[in-house]
This record gives sequence, C-alpha cells and structure tokens, in this order.
Amino acid sequence: MLTPEQTKNLKEELIRHIESSFPEDKKEFAISQIEAMDSEELEKFLIKNQLLKKEGANTGTGHCVFCSIVFGDIKSYKIAENSKTIAVLEINPISRGHTIIIPKEHISSEKELPKQVAVLSKKVSSLIKKRLKLEEIKTEYSNVLGHEVINIIPFYKNQKGSSERKPASAEKLSEMQEILTKKSSGKKSRNQENY
Ligand SMILES: [Zn+2]
Repeated sequence: MLTPEQTKNLKEELIRHIESSFPEDKKEFAISQIEAMDSEELEKFLIKNQLLKKEGANTGTGHCVFCSIVFGDIKSYKIAENSKTIAVLEINPISRGHTIIIPKEHISSEKELPKQVAVLSKKVSSLIKKRLKLEEIKTEYSNVLGHEVINIIPFYKNQKGSSERKPASAEKLSEMQEILTKKSSGKKSRNQENY
C-alpha cells in the first residue's frame, strides 16, 4: 500500500508529466482523473502502466518515474551525465534553472549513493551558478517512491520565500537546456527573467 506521502508525491509527479507531455486538449481531463484517485486506485493505475512493480517483485530497479527518465522512457532535458548519474531540468521548477540529479540506479538511501552522484551535483551546481550568474543555490535531497535524488534549486535575489512549483513550458526548458549545455559562454543569458 502507498503511504499518503507517496500518494501525494506520485500524483504530483504524474501531473508534472502530463503537463509537459500531453496534448493541450487532453491535459485537463487526465489531471482530473489522477487527482480523483485514492491511493489504492493510484497504485493499480501505476502497476497497470508499469510505472510501479507489484509488491514483492521489487528488485530495486522497478519502473519509477526517475528510472523512466534514466532509461529515456520519459522525455527529459538533460544537462550533464556521468557513469552513475544524470542531471536533468525539473519540468515543474521551484525557480528558473531548477535541476535534479538522478542516480542511474534505483537507490533509496542518501548514504548509499555512489560518489559520482555528489561529483555531478557539485559540477552542475557550479555550472548553474556560473551560467545564470547566481550567488546562492540550494541543494535538497528528496525521495520519490524509493528513488533518492538531489534537487539543485537556484535562489534569486528578487525571489520571495515561496517554494511553490510551477510547470515550465517546453520552450523555456529548451532555452535553459541550451544555456546550461552550450560550449562557449559568448552569448549573454537573460538571467534576470523568471519563469
Ligand atoms: Zn527509480
């Protein structure tokens, strides 16, 4: 059974996925369907769509949202990668440039993360700081259905205390991906603009 916390996180994750990948005219209905589910219905739905393995069959590499990103089953905006980790843009960012560091393996504990995860996290943090000309960046661990990830959240001076997530358009995400992945830094980025 899913805990209320897992149910909430999974619903948010699914809704983000819908926001970013569903056709405009189907979004509203799909989101209302997800929102109406109780935890049991949600679990059945996830198993049916192979997003979650049945209990007992969990080998540690079940089909979770982050694993799906790692395997390329879900479209993502990749920023960087090493042998153990990928960094992708959060599609529902707290602030512009919000990036998630995803271990390629389905690892549930912060303590078991391979050191390459921290290496990429540091590398991407300094890249974001430099390219977006930021002084401050927040690093937060989070865990959705047993997949431990690191959030790299840019902090802007004009930003209010809110940590509300807002979906970013595909256009904005592509633009950010370009800013963070382009080789030279000759072109000036519009770093003051918020989502
Ligand atoms: Zn996973």
